[in-house]
Amino acid sequence: MDKNLLDSSIEYLKGVGPGRAELLRSELGIRTFRDLLQQYPFRYVDRTVFHRIRDLTPESGEVQLRGILRRLDQVGDGRKRRLVGRFRDDSGVIELVWFKGAHWIQNSLQVGKEYILYGRVTAFGSTLNIAHPEMEEPKSESQDPASTFAPVYPSTEKLNAKGLDVKMRRRLMEGLLEKVQSADVPENLPDYLVRKMKLVSRFDALKRIHFPEDQNQLDAARNRLKFEELFFLQLRLLQLKFRRQQAVIGYPFTQVGANFYEYYQERIPFELTGAQKRVIKEIRRDMGSGKQMNRLLQGDVGSGKTMVGLMCMLIAIDNGFQAAMMAPTEILAQQHYLSISEYLEGMDLQVGFLSGSIKGKKRRVLLEALEAGEIHILIGTHALIEDPVVFKNLGLAITDEQHRFGVKQRASLWKKNKPYPPHVLVMTATPIPRTLAMTLYGDLDVSVIDELPPGRIPITTQHRTEAHRMRVIGFMRTEIAKGRQIYVVYPLIEESEKLDLQNLEEGYEALSREFPRPEYQISILHGRMKTADKDFEMQRFVKGETQIMVATTVIEVGVNVPNASVMVIENTERFGLSQLHQLRGRVGRGAEQSFCILLTGNKLSSEGRERIQTMVQTNNGFEIAEADLRLRGPGNILGTQQSGDLNLRIADLARDGRILQTARELAIRILEKDPGLEHPANVNTKKFLEKYGPALKGWGRIS
Ligand code: ADP
Ligand code: MG
Repeated sequence: MDKNLLDSSIEYLKGVGPGRAELLRSELGIRTFRDLLQQYPFRYVDRTVFHRIRDLTPESGEVQLRGILRRLDQVGDGRKRRLVGRFRDDSGVIELVWFKGAHWIQNSLQVGKEYILYGRVTAFGSTLNIAHPEMEEPKSESQDPASTFAPVYPSTEKLNAKGLDVKMRRRLMEGLLEKVQSADVPENLPDYLVRKMKLVSRFDALKRIHFPEDQNQLDAARNRLKFEELFFLQLRLLQLKFRRQQAVIGYPFTQVGANFYEYYQERIPFELTGAQKRVIKEIRRDMGSGKQMNRLLQGDVGSGKTMVGLMCMLIAIDNGFQAAMMAPTEILAQQHYLSISEYLEGMDLQVGFLSGSIKGKKRRVLLEALEAGEIHILIGTHALIEDPVVFKNLGLAITDEQHRFGVKQRASLWKKNKPYPPHVLVMTATPIPRTLAMTLYGDLDVSVIDELPPGRIPITTQHRTEAHRMRVIGFMRTEIAKGRQIYVVYPLIEESEKLDLQNLEEGYEALSREFPRPEYQISILHGRMKTADKDFEMQRFVKGETQIMVATTVIEVGVNVPNASVMVIENTERFGLSQLHQLRGRVGRGAEQSFCILLTGNKLSSEGRERIQTMVQTNNGFEIAEADLRLRGPGNILGTQQSGDLNLRIADLARDGRILQTARELAIRILEKDPGLEHPANVNTKKFLEKYGPALKGWGRIS
């Protein structure tokens, strides 16, 4: 491609210059014309409607007024200093206030002049005012139709201080759009697709996203740009996937042999569910294909993923390879180690455990045995993927992800074996909303366990406030009298760790008074304890020596005590949905009716209320995951690092599921016919993908 106008440095746009260019770069990451063009407005001012001051109420929200600035005065002093204005139209007067930037405002506004004003109405005692309104002079009597929806861009205080405020940003964009010709933004989607999807052209979309004339134009531009963004993301992900499937050789696990059959026919403690069988078959086929497997295994809490993982590891061993299982926390890793050792008792297989806490001679001996191939299965924390850990021949690596491993960590599993990378199975207990699975894991194959083992009684979930605490205690007593065990969980959030710990300890003491020794025994567990102490406390609870386990979320993942049938969660409003779902999954594992009691204060935010209602209404992890996505957005669910990898400009994974689905389906169809995008009709798309397609930082070789 020739040098494109859009590649010009932003410095050279009229009205920018070196100083502002530097600021745009450091504050917003805008370096070129293209960057500016692709920073879309986050909202619009509807220029078609003018409000009348007399009709305003505290509920009016954001309004647009047209009138005269009557006064502008400095009021108060010190920290209370502010700039106050009076603004009048033919129906009334309203007060304007500025708490910052008084100097700038006084210089840029003129008393007696007519302005169009935009801002949010707030009630201040019995009067109304508008703080920090946007003000601009009317261009002419008849508004320029191209600015009926005026764009509003992300800004910062620094930008405002340098005059790069809303008005200036609009002006820059107008200037840019005057320069940009349709040849500068060539169509990047295949023509047949643009027609089929009835999309507006790329050129039109980019112009109209900034200055739509009406709602229809705006919708069409948005739709086009969202589709385009998701389509290119899918093309990239799927291309990686298809290429990998073609190019990356994996060990063909052709045998399903002695260990698998002995286990399956003689030792397995229960009948596998239909879903478990189906998933094992999918994985078997994949590992037998000669291509390297990269598969995501989704299954709700308690759906029996560990057993699926074990059966797959037996296949690896039957083919002469070692297998590894990696968990995000020490406690979960140990739990896996215990259950897998127990499952395998009586079989002639060596299972090792490795974490940061295994040191010295023990570690040396373990690592030697691993390298010599004497250990068949290694279970542990991310210590597994560190450099000094050498396998003789790692054939299958399983990570129990729980949303905690980054893509990079998964990628480093690949390096654990030469010449071919091991097969990789990623297990996740927090069901992933469909849209996220299609993007973040879009390059993986997916298996889903959508069935729970039989005989599970659904957990009853109830919301209780402080006022009910004594009744909750009474309920706990009754359940303990029936022989049940109980978890009481406190939040532990890093910023206020000290306070949380104090809460936990006070809670422990209060419970000790309600449930005195020797009749009752209580375990306590939190992340600050030494491993040996944690083990001791955990074991007491597992063995049934204690009736109550007071803990932080360290018990969130994987802990399995079937006799525990009540989960009491303190300060529930401070937990996220997926965490609550995980916590609830610690009960309901035995034959008894289980309960989850969500304790909160009396006051709840509307989001907090919705979270709790969701928990009370459904036990289905997929439904909870969708609600979580809707309430919090993808960035918060994935953590900034992973959502940053996606870097979406306009598409919203919580809302644009349908567009994403279509984009993915079309991308698959196109790549199946034309994997290299060599067909003349696809050449523009190929060029664009290569030059401007999503970068997918950190996807690494996992893709
Ligand atoms: P998760 O998918 O949450 O990791 P686990 O693997 O810990 O679930 O399994 C939860 C419990 O269900 C364990 O006690 C396990 O032994 C049991 N389990 C798994 N599969 C079955 C099955 N097919 N029938 C009965 N119990 C099962
Ligand atoms: Mg598990």
